[in-house]
Amino acid sequence: MNIEEFKKYGHEIVEWIASYYENIRDYPVRSQVSPGEIFNKLDGAAPEEGEQMSRILKDFEDIIMPGITHWQSPAFHAYFPSNTSFPSLLGEMLTSALGAQCMIWDTSPAAAELEEKVMIWLRDMIGLPESFSGVTQDTASTATLCALITAREKKSNFGVNSNGFFDQKPMRIYCSAETHSSVEKAVKIMGAGNNNLVKVGVDDNQAVDIRLLRQAIRKDIEAGFQPLAVVAAIGTTGTVAIDPLKEIAAVCREFDLWLHVDAAYAGTALILEEYRWMIEGIEDVDSFVFNPHKWMFVNFDCSAYFVKDEKALSNTFSILPEYLKTNTTGKVKDYRDWSIQLGRSFRALKLWFVIRSYGVNQMKKIIREHINMAKSLAEMIREHSGFEVLTVSLNLICFRLRPYQAESLEEINQRNKNLMDKLNASGKIYLTHTKIGDKLVLRMVTGQTYLTEADVRRSWEVIKEAVER
Ligand SMILES: *Cc1c(COP(=O)(O)O)cnc(C)c1O
Repeated sequence: MNIEEFKKYGHEIVEWIASYYENIRDYPVRSQVSPGEIFNKLDGAAPEEGEQMSRILKDFEDIIMPGITHWQSPAFHAYFPSNTSFPSLLGEMLTSALGAQCMIWDTSPAAAELEEKVMIWLRDMIGLPESFSGVTQDTASTATLCALITAREKKSNFGVNSNGFFDQKPMRIYCSAETHSSVEKAVKIMGAGNNNLVKVGVDDNQAVDIRLLRQAIRKDIEAGFQPLAVVAAIGTTGTVAIDPLKEIAAVCREFDLWLHVDAAYAGTALILEEYRWMIEGIEDVDSFVFNPHKWMFVNFDCSAYFVKDEKALSNTFSILPEYLKTNTTGKVKDYRDWSIQLGRSFRALKLWFVIRSYGVNQMKKIIREHINMAKSLAEMIREHSGFEVLTVSLNLICFRLRPYQAESLEEINQRNKNLMDKLNASGKIYLTHTKIGDKLVLRMVTGQTYLTEADVRRSWEVIKEAVER
């Protein structure tokens, strides 16, 4: 492809993107294909000769698009959103145009220094203390892994990095039973072994039970284990439950444990002063992660990881082979030492585009609107005799069909599952489920970037119609 063709198709693709967003409500929100359907339509072997871009784009429309689930559709209420926005898209286009690999300062000083700056902006926007330094990561999973490995190294005086676990007592990590599965994955990878992840019971609000947490730690100490870290969830994935951070922090101080906060989704709401109560006790936190790539209009991937002891992080991960030594080593931030992989993309650019293009006030306004949409939707659901609302936290509603008299738990759970399957198969709306105790509930998030009140009402009509018909 030459530069003239690049221009022609570049313009064409921007037009395509604009019309995709104009018409996004017309697509079936969850892809309606069956397993294998896309695979079997694709050529068996790579083409020997290059093909025309026009043919590739036609196959993109005909073969690929039917297998896409439309995460940017305002009828997408499943999981958590993975938002993008027009400024983010533009930033990402430039990032891929530059194609810079931003592993160290020398390989693009602007990437390192912009990252340092936008992480300060983000830190201040969400109300973290100035003692925190930030770095982008690909995902919250990686950030949590970095946190636990750093905790391990600090606790062992960098002994595990040097000698392995050879002279260590088994390390124990604590989180609530509702905490995200990425914690278990991190515990496996960092070497403690997932039998040493203690999943503490939750209270009626699905938040960690402090009394049980303290008990578990005491018991472990008596049994000769080495308590290492607690992962607090500010916004669990099931119901956006908020662990009591201040009380957890007191426990961590008492037993000298690393405290990591997983606020992957709910962290965005911290730009609103009225939600800062969620991080009361933050001064005693060691590390914190949230994902601008979920609710903050920045396209995947872009996770924001903050640490109090930046030296502990870089000492844990630093390596300095001859070929990476430069004249600036030690004088600048080389972010390759702040995470697992060496290569890193220029994520800060899209973050900068988004924050500057919206401005903090507009971002606050939209996040507030999303939360208010959930409140008014929950009201509508409550008023309907066929449904009950179990939880509303930020912009996530957990609700279900109201059980009939004498209906068993299995029956009511099945009836809710059937409703969800029917809704998702209609292509008109997409939502997912979780369990609260033994109750299967439907989760509905109102957090898509371009969501409007009218969209939420339309989604509610779809649900009502499915039940009333
Ligand atoms: C989404 C989510 C994660 C995982 O995020 P990734 O960036 O996909 O790794 C972790 N914790 C919570 C609470 C989440 O909602």
